[in-house]
Amino acid sequence: MAQIGLDTPLKGVVGARTANRLTDKLQLATVGDLLRYYPRKYDQRGKLTDLAKLVVGERATVWGRVVRVTERDLGYRGAGGGRGRGRGGGRPPVRHITNVVIGDSNRQLTCTFFNQYHWARALPVGTDAMFSGKVSTFQDKLQMSSPTVAVLSDTSGSGERDDGAALEVIESFPGGVIPVYPLVDGISQAVLQQSVRTVLDLRPAIEDPVPDVLLAEHGLIDLATALQDIHRPRTHEHLDKAQERLRYDEALAVQLVLARRRAEAKRFPAEPCPRIPGGLLDAFDADLPFELTEGQRAVGEVIAADLATIHPMNRLLQGEVGSGKTVVALRAMLQVIDSGRQAVMLAPTEVLAAQHARSLRQVLGPLGRGGELGAPAGATAITLLTGSLGAKARKQALLNIASGQAGIVVGTHALLSEGVFFANLGLIVVDEQHRFGVEQRHALRTKHPAGSPPHVLVMTATPIPRTVAMTVFGDLDTSTLTQLPRGRSPIGTTVVPAAEKPAWVERAWERIREEVGKGHQAYVVCPKIGDEGGGENGGELFEDGTVFDPDADPDADPGAADGKRPPLAVTQVAAMLRDGPLAGLRLGVLHGRLVPAEKDEVMSAFARGELDVLVATTVIEVGVDVPNATMMVIMDAERFGMSQLHQLRGRVGRGSAPGICLLVSEAPAGTPGRARLDAVAATTDGFELAEADLELRREGNVLGTAQAGRSTALRQLSLLRDRDTIERARTDAAGLVGDDPEMARRPGLADMVAAVIAEQEQDYLDKG
Ligand code: ADP
Ligand code: MG
Repeated sequence: MAQIGLDTPLKGVVGARTANRLTDKLQLATVGDLLRYYPRKYDQRGKLTDLAKLVVGERATVWGRVVRVTERDLGYRGAGGGRGRGRGGGRPPVRHITNVVIGDSNRQLTCTFFNQYHWARALPVGTDAMFSGKVSTFQDKLQMSSPTVAVLSDTSGSGERDDGAALEVIESFPGGVIPVYPLVDGISQAVLQQSVRTVLDLRPAIEDPVPDVLLAEHGLIDLATALQDIHRPRTHEHLDKAQERLRYDEALAVQLVLARRRAEAKRFPAEPCPRIPGGLLDAFDADLPFELTEGQRAVGEVIAADLATIHPMNRLLQGEVGSGKTVVALRAMLQVIDSGRQAVMLAPTEVLAAQHARSLRQVLGPLGRGGELGAPAGATAITLLTGSLGAKARKQALLNIASGQAGIVVGTHALLSEGVFFANLGLIVVDEQHRFGVEQRHALRTKHPAGSPPHVLVMTATPIPRTVAMTVFGDLDTSTLTQLPRGRSPIGTTVVPAAEKPAWVERAWERIREEVGKGHQAYVVCPKIGDEGGGENGGELFEDGTVFDPDADPDADPGAADGKRPPLAVTQVAAMLRDGPLAGLRLGVLHGRLVPAEKDEVMSAFARGELDVLVATTVIEVGVDVPNATMMVIMDAERFGMSQLHQLRGRVGRGSAPGICLLVSEAPAGTPGRARLDAVAATTDGFELAEADLELRREGNVLGTAQAGRSTALRQLSLLRDRDTIERARTDAAGLVGDDPEMARRPGLADMVAAVIAEQEQDYLDKG
């Protein structure tokens, strides 16, 4: 046989039947696919699995020692006779049951076999064997029904085993480190182990796509050795080295995808919009009622320079709530308008879009009243375009946008997908969009509605841990505003333990009355909307699925889900407050089920000070800016994630009066839920909380990777632990891609990206 390589089909290497199974069940078609299918864990020979860690309902592979075997004959003697193997046709009637119990005096697992008469002989008491199957319970005992069983070849007398097809004999591994692969139905450990061994024994030619200099620089081993040792580690040290190398490959593959995106974007031409003296931006700066913070000024200069180049800007602007990102964005928009182009600002919700339009009009004053009587020369116009506009207003708005009269257009994302026609779009500002992924941004740049690609500025107040910024936002250049504008008041946060100290809750309502008495306003936030008309599906009752869906939001306290009472609802709490502790105050209700016009009306009334208290869901999480609001009470606070609580409390203390945030919770002291609330109360550092959140999340959720199928990508890489590797890979990727986004000069690397990140998994970049 000619020498095999990574792209050699498995068929013809491991036998047609096995190859077909590997392809059908695990989508492994080539030698490379198989070698990149890494073990999930490693068992040490002689070390038995801790049965206490098994999870009912999941597949597991355990090493166990047989402690008892019982057989039961049900006495039925059908047409097939006593000892026949009921093959063919439907399921044969159960005539015989063997129970093989493994474990120790603490914990036991019963493996049950039906109509297979050989197990008692094959697995005598004292045998160590590997059992793979789904864990269930039967009469309160852990059970596995018809598991596949493997014994090591060097345990007693493997040579003469002829006792049944179901017993697999696996070889002993060097160093006693036994790989355990992730399994699916129809593929056993032994099939994978043997296939890998067959392939490795043929010594495939493996060319290393990563240049030697990089390997040497980072002290990494070559790919051939790494693939050998990840499957058949000679020692734990060899295994560590192999994992280190393959983790780097994963980090590099991700960063290559991102570097390609950046290089691709940079190849596009853009119309430069240099700063033009004497334009709108200068006029705006001259009238600014406050001084820009140092950070605002510095970031402003970077953006001004980006806009002046012949390639599109792609920049992420991070900054705590209240750090003044909007002014930075507005100044960028004005610079673009000064070059005769348009700017659009996209918000995640209609409420926010309307609010942005309102506040931009206010901040710009006469400079934003272009086309109106008495506006200064060169003034521009601001047009709001949302789904809730009436037909006539919409037509007018579209006309303003198409004619170029609207210098600034504000709307939601629908605005771009609806094919709105711009006269000359130069800049897209995306506000508060952490759910807007790499691919969506890529689409923004390439399927842009204007002639040449617009500049893109993405803004977020959600602090992003550095590793996440490098992956989920890795296609962007980043800037951060670290400083709050002068005069911004600190927010004091206190946990109100509702179960232990009910009087504190009463006090919370009194505090609201006191704030209102001083002329201020307050928010009350609840996890749920309310149940009237909600129908069968409880999920509808929540805002956007962002809250208290333990699957979608793993950083919310999972224990809260199966708690006794349902989460508090806006409608219910509003009614309770109106008739009780807050009677006489002006209460408004805001949530996602209101029609947009209603939402906007409530929000504007609150902004105008015509409402004292706003009872709301997380619709107010991002961007809502009412400086006169000084207090927030968050009900069932343990049901929110830490970052989310931080976002929410950022809504108060936006004016000069100090802000108060009360986290009301029935979570008992000492529970994880309560500990998270204490952590939020103890710090005002959003980055710290974001890192803590990351630790609590399953990483797959951070990256949005699907767990199903051939999930080889990013299995070795951890965003928490591998920060250094990710940073190195980012630098390397930038150098390797250079100005060659197709990586035409490095086909080996392109292949590696494809091998490490399966096509469908490149999508994960979409779901930041
Ligand atoms: P965010 O970063 O949360 O979007 P905003 O841009 O909404 O913050 O700014 C919050 C408030 O601070 C606004 O009312 C804005 O006018 C005000 N602001 C922004 N920059 C400054 C500054 N340098 N000095 C004083 N106030 C400022
Ligand atoms: Mg904002």
